[in-house]
Amino acid sequence: MLEVHDLRVAYNRVIRVLEGISFAVPKGKAVTLLGANGSGKSTTVKAISGMLRSDNGAIVTGKVVLEGEDVTRQGASRMVRRGVIHVMEGRFVFPDLTVKENLLMGAYSIKDRSSITEDLGRWLDFFPVLGARTNTQAGYLSGGEQQMLAIARALMAHPRLVLMDEPSMGLSPILVQEVFGVISDIQKTHQLTFLLVEQNVRMALKVADYGYVIERGFIRLEGTAEELRQNKHLQDFYLGISENENHI
Ligand code: ATP
Repeated sequence: MLEVHDLRVAYNRVIRVLEGISFAVPKGKAVTLLGANGSGKSTTVKAISGMLRSDNGAIVTGKVVLEGEDVTRQGASRMVRRGVIHVMEGRFVFPDLTVKENLLMGAYSIKDRSSITEDLGRWLDFFPVLGARTNTQAGYLSGGEQQMLAIARALMAHPRLVLMDEPSMGLSPILVQEVFGVISDIQKTHQLTFLLVEQNVRMALKVADYGYVIERGFIRLEGTAEELRQNKHLQDFYLGISENENHI
């Protein structure tokens, strides 16, 4: 589904964040990109979703291929039209709009308008916390509810590929478990293709089939979720940290 070849990103023309990374996300699978703070995970998903722009000083080279088509450096709105939906770090719901209005914003690229009411009903049923607050302004939702809303809004767009950046950010351990439970359910039930960026390695490896670890701009490790869980480097440097930080 998605192939990334030799992706390199520099900010302000000189700060090299990615030094040539390559990875793949097969259709219907969940793949995770892991790495410490500042290792370049968000940069990677932004480069894929077309959010890094040369007029902001970001230089992107390499190749991004979506279902066989070269989509390198296409703008963000084109990528949305191709079904690549980026759920950004920090959630970015529209705080003044209601839950329902936020969800409808997610469907703005859908041509078949008749399916929207059905989709709305489906996702409001799937996320009861949202179903109970359809007319509440999103700014009044808790962090976990806003994260659910950001995910549901992405689903309204009929995504071919969901890029999810750090869904655990700012959530309590209980909510992290809840949000990851929902991501796992949706991914498995609907066979969605996910690229999940996370610092919470333990949770990410529960959801993902396969993972890559980015360090200093390179992919240092890759493997199935089980292989990574058993890997000594990952256990020493990530799982220990993750366990202490998140008390999971
Ligand atoms: P985190 O888990 O903390 O979100 P990350 O792995 O997602 O980290 P990035 O956000 O991709 O890391 O950042 C990688 C590096 O690039 C960091 O050193 C960051 O300071 C730098 N960086 C990110 N965005 C910019 C920008 N617009 N201009 C300059 N430097 C940037």
